[in-house]
Amino acid sequence: PVDRLPEIQEARLRLPILAEEQVIMEAVREKECVVLCGETGSGKTTQVPQFLYEAGYASSGGIIGVTEPRRVAAISMSHRVATEMNLPSGVVSYQIRYEGNVTENTKIKFMTDGVLLKEIQKDFLLQKYSVVIIDEAHERSVYTDILIGLLSRIVPLRNKKGLPMKLIIMSATLRVEDFTENKRLFRTPPPVIKVEARQFAVTVHFNKRTPVDNYTGEAFRKICKIHRMLPPGGILVFLTGQAEVHSVCRRLRKAFPYRPHREHTGTQTHLSKRAKKKKNMSLPRINLDSYSALPVDEGDEDRQAGIDDNDNEGSDLELGDHPDSDHEEKADPSIPLYVLPLYSLLAPEQQAKVFSPPPTGARLCVVATNVAETSLTIPGIKYVVDCGRVKKRFYDRVTGVSSFKVTWISQASANQRAGRAGRTEPGHCYRLYSSAVFGDFSLFSEAEITRRPVDDLVLQMKDLNIEKVVNFPFPTPPSSEVLISAEQLLISLGALEEPPRRGRLGEMERARLSCPITPLGRAMAAFPVAPRYAKMLALGRQQGCMPYIITIVAAMTVREIFEDYDRPAGSEEENTKMAGKKARCVQMRRLWAGQGQSVQLGDLMVLLGAVGACEFAGCTHQFCEENGLRYKAMLEIRRLRGQLTNADGSSDSVSGAVFTFASDSTPLLDDPVFIHPSSALHKTLPEFVVYQEIMETTKMYMRGVCAVQAEWIPKLLPQYCHFSAPEESPAPWFCPLSGRVKCHQQSTFYRVSWKLPAIEMDYPEGLEHYKLF
Ligand code: ADP
Ligand code: MG
Repeated sequence: PVDRLPEIQEARLRLPILAEEQVIMEAVREKECVVLCGETGSGKTTQVPQFLYEAGYASSGGIIGVTEPRRVAAISMSHRVATEMNLPSGVVSYQIRYEGNVTENTKIKFMTDGVLLKEIQKDFLLQKYSVVIIDEAHERSVYTDILIGLLSRIVPLRNKKGLPMKLIIMSATLRVEDFTENKRLFRTPPPVIKVEARQFAVTVHFNKRTPVDNYTGEAFRKICKIHRMLPPGGILVFLTGQAEVHSVCRRLRKAFPYRPHREHTGTQTHLSKRAKKKKNMSLPRINLDSYSALPVDEGDEDRQAGIDDNDNEGSDLELGDHPDSDHEEKADPSIPLYVLPLYSLLAPEQQAKVFSPPPTGARLCVVATNVAETSLTIPGIKYVVDCGRVKKRFYDRVTGVSSFKVTWISQASANQRAGRAGRTEPGHCYRLYSSAVFGDFSLFSEAEITRRPVDDLVLQMKDLNIEKVVNFPFPTPPSSEVLISAEQLLISLGALEEPPRRGRLGEMERARLSCPITPLGRAMAAFPVAPRYAKMLALGRQQGCMPYIITIVAAMTVREIFEDYDRPAGSEEENTKMAGKKARCVQMRRLWAGQGQSVQLGDLMVLLGAVGACEFAGCTHQFCEENGLRYKAMLEIRRLRGQLTNADGSSDSVSGAVFTFASDSTPLLDDPVFIHPSSALHKTLPEFVVYQEIMETTKMYMRGVCAVQAEWIPKLLPQYCHFSAPEESPAPWFCPLSGRVKCHQQSTFYRVSWKLPAIEMDYPEGLEHYKLF
């Protein structure tokens, strides 16, 4: 029995999914796997675990597991469900990579999908779980896809063994054919239950023109107009990244300052006269469910709401009297706007703010990245401003160079974003692009697995004894090219056995053959980090510098350890403070980099120095604040260090006798590569460097750069490393460093080979019996 508070109970009953409880639970009882589709906000994530709990799925020993592709969602949803059920976090808990509050009493466990994958490695049958919910399956994150593939085998196996288990796949879109129509995945298609959401009409307004680059300016102008002219209701703005979010937040706060401790004159009626007059105008309604079929000619631009773009339309006098350029500087405190940023790197307590109602008299405006598209439902949103773009990570298949690129979203994403405006009452979505541009969007976003390297996945699968990864029932299989390059990288790292050099088969076929995992590979797979980092850990152990390597690896896997102190502040005073802080941070980084010392480990040394200093100071919020470090990042590093220190891979099982050769090859690049200005080695110009990764922004930049002294190479390296240039290319590539690292025309690279003793490890018993793939 669950003892919910009356107001919670009331709110629950308003959710569309409550009406479907019987249908859902019956299907779950009868089938091994059920697919559940329902609009964002219909109650899937918060309610389905509660249905299962109340139906007794957590009462006979097993627990209810829910996976989320994003950490933000895992944490906030566990809190929400705990609150709704009136249960402590020891019962409704979460686990993300290195943080969680799971206890022995946990009954409902929210986790990131990577966490569940790791658990499958420890216990293939997932015996602790009576049911697993894969949430946000429409996002098609790589781990989600892999989990569905694995669970499609685990669930029948569990049932055959008389340990019943259920799988529920939840999606915010109806596009689930990749799961249901895939015979390799589910021989009998699972039933699909559709939750009819109470979606209010959302009027979609397209821009007449599509701004080529200044869409943040366009977004700002649109928000100003909405705020000045339209009735109360929250605004949700979709931009692409943290920097954009902050810049728009700052401009909005300046334009419509909100001062917490002052009474604002206008309450609900903070509308201009014109807006009041316009309040009752009729707006054309477009049903959200059917509008993807909108004609895409320019003729259907909806301009009647009066706040659509007005570029150069002389006739549209309604808008002419608010020339935008004037607004920016003139603050208007009479109509305060309560502006909140929302993005995944934001501290959790800041993120949580969006769920509370805004202060009386102020309108809520959440400026968000893609996180607000489906995983979090922000209450009270009536207006959506959609820039139509998303920032995604891309990998070059040949060079492995990664870059974040801003690209157009899919029509499905645009519709998801629009839908956010119609949760509590009819709303409006302002698209900062034309309907013609919308017509050119792809219908759906492609699965992540088709556009990223899969070396980590392949290693995990090999560790699960899935020898022929090509045979795995992927919902969307990655290209064989990508699978082969992953196998090749793993072979060169020594994680997979090298296939025989000679033979009748060609390169491709050879690589396609299932290379078995090596003992080193097993050790590497035990670390919760990418294979290259896992290899570093293995080497660190061999060289007796494990604590340092653990620290460096932990710091490298955290996306950004430094605060973005370049962010312009609001007031003059704040700006001065910010400049002071920046100067201090630059100085600290120099110190941490070991300024003046002969050993120039560069960015790795900065990481090591920063973490060391922070730990020495007790890893306090204050220390981070004063030195420009992200407190959240430092806590993550601390947790990961703890986890790596205790990981199986570092246990005493190194055998010094066997040597395996592994090499790590640098990518083939045609363009020059630069040391990023933020690097400790930017001005130093070492002769040789190694780097963590190459990112393409305006140029190709190396991140995580570390110098290698030329004289070390002959002295130190031959023992356990040798450099060899491919025969046909005499030209070295990482020199000379005249302000940048330049690739020579031939684009040839040294291969660095490391000799490393193989590591033997205990391996969970019994796994070899599951030759399922
Ligand atoms: P779905 O998973 O179908 O997108 P959710 O279960 O996440 O839907 O959300 C259902 C409802 O619960 C939403 O309308 C949302 O406003 C509300 N909700 C979710 N999280 C919170 C929270 N932390 N605080 C207040 N309301 C919340
Ligand atoms: Mg959800």
